[in-house]
Amino acid sequence: MRVLVINCGSSSLKYQLIDSGTEKVLAVGLCERIGLEVSFLKHSPNGGEKIVIETSAMKNHEVAIQMVLDALIDANHGVIKSLKEIGAVGHRVVHGGERFAASIIINDEVIKAIEECNDLAPLHNPANLIGIRACANLMKGIPMVAVFDTAFHQTMPPKAYLYGLPHEYYENYKIRKYGFHGTSHSYVSKRTAEYLGLDINNSKIIVCHLGNGASITAIQNGKSIDTSMGFTPLAGLVMGTRCGDIDPSIIEYITKKENKSLDEVMNILQKESGVQGMSEVSSDFRDLNAAIVSGNEKAIVAFDVFVYRVAKYIGGYVAAMNGIDAITFTAGVGENDSRVRSEVCNYLGYLGVKVDPEKNAIKGQEVLITAKDSKVKVCAIPTNEELTIARETVALL
Ligand code: ADP
Repeated sequence: MRVLVINCGSSSLKYQLIDSGTEKVLAVGLCERIGLEVSFLKHSPNGGEKIVIETSAMKNHEVAIQMVLDALIDANHGVIKSLKEIGAVGHRVVHGGERFAASIIINDEVIKAIEECNDLAPLHNPANLIGIRACANLMKGIPMVAVFDTAFHQTMPPKAYLYGLPHEYYENYKIRKYGFHGTSHSYVSKRTAEYLGLDINNSKIIVCHLGNGASITAIQNGKSIDTSMGFTPLAGLVMGTRCGDIDPSIIEYITKKENKSLDEVMNILQKESGVQGMSEVSSDFRDLNAAIVSGNEKAIVAFDVFVYRVAKYIGGYVAAMNGIDAITFTAGVGENDSRVRSEVCNYLGYLGVKVDPEKNAIKGQEVLITAKDSKVKVCAIPTNEELTIARETVALL
């Protein structure tokens, strides 16, 4: 079956057409600046040349999806003859609240339930729903599945997901830790077990998803038991531009000192903090590494803070699981940044972790980065959220 995987943001839309039998990606692309004066469709057919279409007509997501469908069946750069070849659509949905602990076939009731989670992810869920509705209009009769970022973490016990707040806030507003990047943590933990020959049902794995957004999950016997992101994706690690865990009183303090509104301060914590804010260089680890090499002190300290926080979360999760079989790095930084991986592992000598520098120099592919006599195996596994969404979609149908 051909599955169209859609990841819809407020002004962008990423897609992949995947053949579920061979798991081959037939086409991949992106619509950018939807609703703005000038928009772009960037479409790459597998094996063909990438095309970029600039248009002033992409006035909403429905038009964007129509352009994607046209590109998929185009005589020159298309990859299928007719839209009838698309058997299903899998949608990434960010927040499923406590309602969704697994992927689900989309119907009117499910759309309503996703809408009820809008409050919990106001930047993401409404955009995801726009994509779902647009596909429903344009591809009538084709089954659709919602795959949630939060679902994998619904196995966390209350001691992991409850905050030290009055219980009524949990009861009234469902304020708790939800966790994100679940599709990635689920895929990478399963792949880690396969790659290392572990029985996932009898394993203790920590997955470090280090991208622009970053989170770490403790996965015991295939189930998420704790994760570093929280009620929102702002919590946990220091990220590209997000601050991660901070003392909540800092928010009030900056608001008063700088005479800023709460919205302004929250925007700073989301978009101007993390390694970018700390280094005053960039949120991108390639730029950060270049600045470190040239001796930039702020870049060095931002890198140290990032790595130290990762190592502390790993230590906490080893304790939470009372042991560890494997640690895996994934996403842009985790798959590519050998320095981050080796510096994190330097903190893990007490666990018997020994890095093999030659293996650790390998980037962007599945690799065991520890030496033969390392007590705990550490690897890098490229994440593949789209493939997971396609698999979940087919499994449900
Ligand atoms: P997201 O999906 O959260 O936007 P990604 O997982 O794509 O993020 O990661 C993007 C980040 O990965 C970049 O901002 C950069 O910091 C890092 N990155 C990508 N390639 C490399 C590389 N070759 N070396 C070091 N870091 C890299």
